[in-house]
Amino acid sequence: MLIVMNHKAGQKQIEAVIKAVQDMGFTAAPIPGSERTAIGVLGNKGYVDDVNIRDLPGVQEVIHVSKPYKLVSRDFHPRATVVKVGGVEIGEGERPVVVAGPCAVENEEQIIKTAKCVKAAGADLLRGGAFKPRTGPHTFQGLKEEGLRLLALAKKETGLPIVTEVMSPENVGLVAEYADLLQVGARNMQNFDLLRELGRIKKPVLLKRGMSATLEEFLAAAEYILAEGNPHVILCERGIRTFETATRNTLDLSVVPLIRELSHLPVMVDPSHATGKRSLVAPMAKAALVAGAHGVLIEVHPEPEKALSDGPQSLTFHGFEKLMGEIRKLNSFLGY
Ligand code: PEP
Ligand code: MN
Repeated sequence: MLIVMNHKAGQKQIEAVIKAVQDMGFTAAPIPGSERTAIGVLGNKGYVDDVNIRDLPGVQEVIHVSKPYKLVSRDFHPRATVVKVGGVEIGEGERPVVVAGPCAVENEEQIIKTAKCVKAAGADLLRGGAFKPRTGPHTFQGLKEEGLRLLALAKKETGLPIVTEVMSPENVGLVAEYADLLQVGARNMQNFDLLRELGRIKKPVLLKRGMSATLEEFLAAAEYILAEGNPHVILCERGIRTFETATRNTLDLSVVPLIRELSHLPVMVDPSHATGKRSLVAPMAKAALVAGAHGVLIEVHPEPEKALSDGPQSLTFHGFEKLMGEIRKLNSFLGY
């Protein structure tokens, strides 16, 4: 439930509404706006009778939100959230960002070379997995803490902020020491203990859509992080499972404008995992930006044919530089 105060409502009236909400056993979350304050009601399991609220002085309207997410919704928070990662601002009104790097950190030479290449080509952030959620247990699982140390080295060399995945609640503290943006992978989108733990830190979180998650489930997963107190969340569409097998996943680009309607959080697109095919990455990255994505996530590898994971979808340095040239043109067309 969302209680909208009228624009003349004073502090005393706002406090009286907050108290009434608390007396009903719920939590009140005031959301001050430029013209009026709204008060979100949290903690209810179903419909809440608003009889004790709607006639209080200063209340203009009571909106019943039936969705499983509230803090994430535009109804609750009309102004777009811009998330700051290192010094980079991501979200509405900002130039779309490019996150680039290998699927996994493999060794020092590979990550430093890639970091320097993507930095020179104009990337804003460096990605690289140290903890890898692989489909089978016999494949490369990532360098773990050593991978984090190599990412820190790459950051020192290039100044690029780091995006890397965290797979378990126990590792949130460790990964947060190194990462500027902590990624939750598609396979962990509904790892609720992990989401809750990420809600308790101050660093921003990149939440990828589960491969079989509806948009409502995706937004409800983000709600877990916000509900624990961390509002710095970026959503990422990375393709979903469909009957189509010609691509690794099916990129659901329509969720980009839809998320922008339903939520105030920034949304990015990962055309690498969405398509699984190098030749499709650039066209879908550009399509994502036209659809309104606040950034794209691109896998790049010095020698994709030798990559320990996701080689077929990784761009070469040359391919990435070419894409960056195209993105620059597109951004200027889009007004950035
Ligand atoms: C990744 O970004 O390296 C990754 C594993 O992606 P996803 O979780 O979307 O499959
Ligand atoms: Mn990958």
